[in-house]
Amino acid sequence: MADMLLFPKIEQDYPEKRVAGERAGDFDEISRVFVQPKAEEQSARCSQCGVPYCATHCPLHNHIPDWLRLTAEGRLREAYELSNATSTMPEICGRICPQDRLCEGNCVIEFSGHGAVTIGAVEKFITDTAWEQGWVEPLMPGPARGQSVGVIGAGPAGLTVADLMRGLGYDVHVYDRYDRMGGLLTYGIPGFKLEKPVVMRRVDRLRDGGVVFHEGFEVGRDATLDQLRQRHDALVVATGVYRPRGLKAPGSDAAGMVEALDFLTASNRKGFGDAVPAFDSGTLDAMGKHVVVVGGGDTAMDCVRTARRQGAASVRCLYRRDRANMPGSQREVANAEEEGVEFVWLAAPERFVEQDGRVVGVEVSRMRLGEPDASGRRTVEADPGGAERLDADLVVKALGFDPEDLPRLFDAPELSVTRWGTLRVDHRTMMTSLDGVFAAGDIVRGASLVVWAVRDGRDVADRMHAWLKARARSVRVAA
Ligand SMILES: Cc1cc2nc3c(=O)[nH]c(=O)nc-3n(C[C@H](O)[C@H](O)[C@H](O)COP(=O)(O)OP(=O)(O)OC[C@H]3O[C@@H](n4cnc5c(N)ncnc54)[C@H](O)[C@@H]3O)c2cc1C
Ligand code: SF4
Repeated sequence: MADMLLFPKIEQDYPEKRVAGERAGDFDEISRVFVQPKAEEQSARCSQCGVPYCATHCPLHNHIPDWLRLTAEGRLREAYELSNATSTMPEICGRICPQDRLCEGNCVIEFSGHGAVTIGAVEKFITDTAWEQGWVEPLMPGPARGQSVGVIGAGPAGLTVADLMRGLGYDVHVYDRYDRMGGLLTYGIPGFKLEKPVVMRRVDRLRDGGVVFHEGFEVGRDATLDQLRQRHDALVVATGVYRPRGLKAPGSDAAGMVEALDFLTASNRKGFGDAVPAFDSGTLDAMGKHVVVVGGGDTAMDCVRTARRQGAASVRCLYRRDRANMPGSQREVANAEEEGVEFVWLAAPERFVEQDGRVVGVEVSRMRLGEPDASGRRTVEADPGGAERLDADLVVKALGFDPEDLPRLFDAPELSVTRWGTLRVDHRTMMTSLDGVFAAGDIVRGASLVVWAVRDGRDVADRMHAWLKARARSVRVAA
């Protein structure tokens, strides 16, 4: 048995980050990996709480203190098996969860001023080791059930449903409008946060386990929802949210104004070696340009850091609130600053200045924070007299995403949505207003997190399995 509770003696230590100058020259992940003695030492800092707040605040309720103890004892394979029991992609969550707001932010030794256990880094280490050592089992389908499941959308929510339902013996077909699977894991999140082979090996495991992927298949264009309902015994809609929020300032349609996801997708595609005409023509390439990114969430952080890596002449981020009130993770802001990004806080675009139809600058008005609103968030208002102009020949709009109009796109007016356009589900059954059509991930929650998409996928698989078993029983009884 390893000694635990070593937090008073051993300081918190994250895996070393590559130096900013080096890492801003490529799209590889910025953190080096833990070596085993370091992972063991850091795990041994855990205070083994009887009621572990870290696990309570992990959306998957991972058995964190238990796999930390096993890691501290050098029992890595068991640690992996336990971590894998509650998550379909622990090494991905370990890399990109905002741990400061979830598990690590609720670690009791953080509250006592010793610095949280580095849970995410240990989780990544355990499962990366499992892949290297060949401990990750192939997906073995259970005995065939003769029922088929259709999954619309191959992001973390859809892939989780596919993984678990195939394991239970269902025929599983995944439809995605992209040519590669993974959703935002593949085309949204940049490689410096999540290297693409880490995603692709998960997809390959499902393919090898008999999940059938229909790439380039857009529901609404290639089939209606009703046609897929005829084809499968149950469906899950896991299409994410992709309608970019617009900018109202004059000039926002000038050439050189681009959408965040177009910018990030082009960059990720280049990483795969694809030909991307809009990148190759310079439209979506920041090389040599003065770049302004508008927005303060994680998407904006990914854009500024991508622009730096593409060789932008300068990169600024405009955000209308201040640092303490931004939605993006503080860790990502710090990374961006280290890499040379300038943040212009309390600033909003008033007008985009055009020359010959191209953007050449942004007129910025200064903002100040008002009283907290009903949600407790400080409101913002214009601060008279504080205008300035910034040079810009590429402006990236990163103001967030709303759902597409799925009832219209899917030709399914009876599919019920909320006033925000997200799919309305019964949270007990995870089913939409259509019998046998479930939903998971961002299309239910609005733009959220990978770990919540995995959690929803897990819940849908559980409810869908129960529903399909009951249906199979009633068919047998009727026969
Ligand atoms: C730039 C960016 C950075 C982010 N960074 C982080 C981060 O660091 N950490 C974190 O936890 N979260 C992050 N997120 C959020 C996270 O990526 C999402 O919450 C998560 O991917 C949602 O999963 P999902 O499966 O619901 O949807 P998605 O990952 O969006 O996948 C949906 C899939 O559905 C497909 N699809 C859509 N419509 C159709 C259709 N009609 N027919 C067929 N297929 C369709 C899409 O092609 C896509 O592949 C980030 C998001 C963005 C945009
Ligand atoms: S899944 Fe996310 S919140 Fe849960 S333990 Fe892992 S890093 Fe923490």
